[in-house]
Amino acid sequence: MSEINTVMGPISADKLGITLIHEHIHCSQSEQADSACISFDERKSAAAECARVLEEVKSYGLASILDATPIDLGRDVELIKEVSAASGINIVCSTGFYRETYEHDSVITHETQKRKTVDEMYELFTREITRGIEGTGIKAGAIKVGTGNGRISEYERKVLTAAARAQKDTGVPIITHTEAGTMGLEQAELLISEGADPKRIMIGHRGADTDLRHHINVMDKGGNIAFDRFGIEIETTDALREAIIIGLIGIGYADRIIMSHDYIVNQPGTTLESRKAWKATGFNWSLEHIFENVIPALKKAGITDDTIDTMTVKNPRRLLARE
Ligand SMILES: [Zn+2]
Repeated sequence: MSEINTVMGPISADKLGITLIHEHIHCSQSEQADSACISFDERKSAAAECARVLEEVKSYGLASILDATPIDLGRDVELIKEVSAASGINIVCSTGFYRETYEHDSVITHETQKRKTVDEMYELFTREITRGIEGTGIKAGAIKVGTGNGRISEYERKVLTAAARAQKDTGVPIITHTEAGTMGLEQAELLISEGADPKRIMIGHRGADTDLRHHINVMDKGGNIAFDRFGIEIETTDALREAIIIGLIGIGYADRIIMSHDYIVNQPGTTLESRKAWKATGFNWSLEHIFENVIPALKKAGITDDTIDTMTVKNPRRLLARE
């Protein structure tokens, strides 16, 4: 059994257990993304609060989380490590870059960032996977990439190309952000054409794409697809996500589907209380939602325990294990 990089060090793949494959412990797209902006005391209480949130989800059997925060969304691997140590949840952190951002986003991708070459990005991603992140010794276990709405920009193309090459050399998976349900198939095609192993690719945020041909095409190439925004009912609804999953399982694709929430446990500018208040109004964005509501809905539609186990345990393990 192969070993997986977690923030606490390598673990055997069979220790992963039930895994949420796209969540964020600490993530921000604002200027506050810079962890240096958080005071020592705020950081301490954030770590304790995050650990408390994770503790609560352990009652559902959750054992592991893949933190999908890329370098440029306020990634703070030492904070993640504190949270993992305090909660006992395995956390795999990511290298990689987010999609290109523009004027209408809360931050704009820097020109210097956009000038990075594929070789420079490849070197950075590979170093963070094999040697560690910023002198912490914490190694990334996944590469996160993203693309925009209806297009892959020149900058994003460089990020995906570097990620594919780093994937090929290190064996860790690539997980993706897609915008408004678009470009999922194009991402898979680009990554595979640059040498990435299709089995180590997970195309994300698929619930917003209701064209089943795209999903089937990605999975027929050997790739995985993620319905990883359960509880965020903006671009689509949970019912529609469930309908797509049930349909795809029905025609034999259970071994290529993974579920998660894209939840942000600590986001500067919001409080845990404010997010709990959303939950009280029926907004189901939380780390418990899949266990409390989605899995029961799937079971009601006839999906077996064995298939739930495939999607929550076996598929994440197969994606993450360098076998
Ligand atoms: Zn995310």
